[in-house]
Parts: sequence; structure tokens; C-alpha cells
Amino acid sequence: MAFADRELPCRDCGASFIFTAGEQEFYATKGLQHDPVRCPACRANRRTMRPEEREEAPSYGTFVSWGGRTPRQLHAATCHECGQTTEIPFLPRGDRPVFCSNCYNAVRERQEAAEQAATQRLAAALAGSADRAEPDPARQANVVLPSD
Ligand SMILES: [Zn+2]
Ligand SMILES: [Zn+2]
Repeated sequence: MAFADRELPCRDCGASFIFTAGEQEFYATKGLQHDPVRCPACRANRRTMRPEEREEAPSYGTFVSWGGRTPRQLHAATCHECGQTTEIPFLPRGDRPVFCSNCYNAVRERQEAAEQAATQRLAAALAGSADRAEPDPARQANVVLPSD
């Protein structure tokens, strides 16, 4: 297949740029189906941005929050929390609940809060037993969990 230079409009700055035959050949060898949408200058600009700020980072619906990376394979799953169908980059095993990216964050926050509460209860229990053994207000105010 022969390639010929083509003039394309830049989506960012509006100037036209040449999509050269050589570049087209390069794109073809990389299996890229789409023409570049930005001039080389704007492309260089965007390369310095973080991937999630780049529009051309592939987005797969809920997977925008996975950093825009292309998961190798997606598996449909039902979110344990909201019941919506979501896609996950691993095979659902059935022994663990699957969450959509929205609910995952909420669930994780809830788990962290629960763990924190459990730690505080443990600290309170230790403080209580320390009080009985040695009623010292200074120790009561400064509870240290055993670290070893
Ligand atoms: Zn441009
Ligand atoms: Zn959900």
C-alpha cells in the first residue's frame, strides 16, 4: 500500500500539519487505525502532561479511573454495592465481591473507617485494663499500643 503526504487540521491549535507518507507507514506498522489529531508541536506539548489529562488516552467507560491504561482483557461483573454492570480487568472469582470503580472507593473508605474504629476500641480496652492495674492519669492520657 502506497502512502502519500496528507494535510490534516490540528484539533488543538487549528493549524494544518502534514501527516507524511513516512508517518503513515509508521502508524500502519504500529497497527494504528486513526489519523493523528494534533500537529507535532501540540503532540509534544501533550506528551509532557500526565496520562489522565490526555484525551487520547484510551478510555473504556468506567475504566477512565483506572488511569486510562488499556486492560488486557475485561470481564463483565455486577457491582456488589450498586448492582450496576461494570467491567473489571480480572476474572471475577465469586468468593470476593466485585465493585464498580465508584463503589470501590466508597467501600474502601468505609473499611478504613471500620479498621480505625476497631483500633480505637482496642486502645480504649487496653487503657481500661491499664487503669485497673495502675491507676495513673498520666498513662491514661498517653496510650501506646504494643508494637512488638
Ligand atoms: Zn497544534
Ligand atoms: Zn457500584
